[in-house]
Amino acid sequence: MDQDFKRRLIMAMADAIIAHAEELTALDSAIGDGDHGLNMKRGFEAVLADADNITAKPLPDALKAIGMTLVMKVGGASGPLYGTLAMGLGKALPPEPSVADAAAALDRAIADVKARGKSEAGQKTMLDVLIPVQVAFAAGGEDLATRLPAVAAEAADATVPMKAIRGRASFLGERSIGHMDPGARSSSLLVQAICSVFNE
Ligand code: ADP
Ligand code: MG
Ligand code: MG
Repeated sequence: MDQDFKRRLIMAMADAIIAHAEELTALDSAIGDGDHGLNMKRGFEAVLADADNITAKPLPDALKAIGMTLVMKVGGASGPLYGTLAMGLGKALPPEPSVADAAAALDRAIADVKARGKSEAGQKTMLDVLIPVQVAFAAGGEDLATRLPAVAAEAADATVPMKAIRGRASFLGERSIGHMDPGARSSSLLVQAICSVFNE
């Protein structure tokens, strides 16, 4: 994967998070502590600032560097979890992955997130987007980069009626029902951003 493509991926992800920071914060204000947009924006601004260094690395090392930056800069619950996701992808991906390699690596990285978060599907978290996206990705077929954003958006919508079992939102119990999970929304934004670059 060439340096320019890696740069476009980073810029697309950072742009999407920065443009939606207020929306993410509003979602987190409803069922958390109102910092998810700020946390993610800070993390992706740091990734952007280090883009020259990151994109000069082979893909696995670039992902590990992104993961470490997210752990250090995002903070909260989501920083270590997104950091684990990126580092897990870095560990599992070859430098020039096929679609099948990428789907398998995402499966491994999701397993790392589950272990780190002691979490699983159906608990109203980012996993409720990441898992269905991985399943659709692994199933393959035509136009993945066109279809996966819709899978991600629907999966984020599907967190609205869920009751939170993990993270701060779980403190609200039944009152977490009726709101989209902020981490599910940020995951959906990241999937859309990555797919948009593959669609260019
Ligand atoms: P904090 O809750 O510490 O303020 P953020 O607001 O940045 O952190 O992130 C909250 C998001 O993190 C949630 O919306 C949820 O998607 C995700 N999250 C929290 N705890 C877990 C967990 N144990 N497993 C998976 N995702 C989690
Ligand atoms: Mg928060
Ligand atoms: Mg917080």
